Amino acid sequence: MNSKIWLSSPHMGGHELDFVNEAFSTNWIAPLGPNVTGFEDDLKTFLNEDSYVAAVSAGTAALHLALILSDVGPGDEVICQSKTFSASANPIVYQGATPVFVDSERDTWNMCPIQLERAIKDRISKGKTPKAIIAVHLYGMPYKKEEIHAIAKTYNIPVVEDSAEALGSSYKGQKCGTFGEFSILSFNGNKIITTSGGGALVCSTKEEKEKAVFLATQAKDKAVAYVHSHIGYNYRMSNVLAGIGRGQMMILQDHVNKRRANFNFYVSKLNQIKEIEFLQEPEGFYSNRWLTCILLDNKKDQEGVRLFLEKDKYRNTSIMETNAPATGF
Ligand SMILES: *Cc1c(COP(=O)(O)O)cnc(C)c1O
Repeated sequence: MNSKIWLSSPHMGGHELDFVNEAFSTNWIAPLGPNVTGFEDDLKTFLNEDSYVAAVSAGTAALHLALILSDVGPGDEVICQSKTFSASANPIVYQGATPVFVDSERDTWNMCPIQLERAIKDRISKGKTPKAIIAVHLYGMPYKKEEIHAIAKTYNIPVVEDSAEALGSSYKGQKCGTFGEFSILSFNGNKIITTSGGGALVCSTKEEKEKAVFLATQAKDKAVAYVHSHIGYNYRMSNVLAGIGRGQMMILQDHVNKRRANFNFYVSKLNQIKEIEFLQEPEGFYSNRWLTCILLDNKKDQEGVRLFLEKDKYRNTSIMETNAPATGF
């Protein structure tokens, strides 16, 4: 039988429906409830007991809240990795600020520390210190954490860590999603685990989390009447979807193991081809291998491979079955 190989399709572990059913049977069909709290606790336990996690409606919403809490506003500049998904940069513009893009380096395909420092010096020389730095663990590979954060510290600029693709990755034993003043996760349908749609903001303090949740729930003041002294957002995660997240947390490591096996599978089949280069883990880096990507040594090859795969996107499962990556990964 021929079936299309989807790019990073969702995979349920089996316990998700138990939590969703619990939401239904207790009528917690709301953007709050025991699954939201439970999912936040699961993430905190996984990441680091010192992190404060707020579950929200999307990774993009989490980034937006991180920028608001970093006091980014109209006229400000925010440094952002250029090689990333557009959602890393969009919230800068929501805030009326301007993105300053910094290119990536070869070792991790993430923000280049040398270019970062050059960009900061350039902006300062023009009278504008960037308000924040958005660094991304693209495809699950950690960015050069020590270098990037040392530079950020030198110039006293907070880092917003875009860990949307990197839940389960780590750097020198420290989990991605715990490096930034604020870090964000995504549980969109194509990520390493999913709630169908969702995200999380990881804060360094309890107060920041409380402020984030306040803003994410329409910023209603503590009063009986509808008093709002701040502009709020409707960004909280639904209790139904958080139930999916609780089930997915049980199999996160399993997903990481399978993705890493996929990477090894592709390497074993393709690494004799000299035009193809895989992204290796530098010493101390552990990638969840959310996506396996390759570098091709020229643009013509790149388009040729793309067209070839497009033409032949259905695989013959009876041939592939024995050694192919698991379906859904
Ligand atoms: C998916 C993704 C986001 C946005 O997350 P959503 O949950 O889809 O809003 C942000 N940054 C990166 C790098 C992503 O891959």
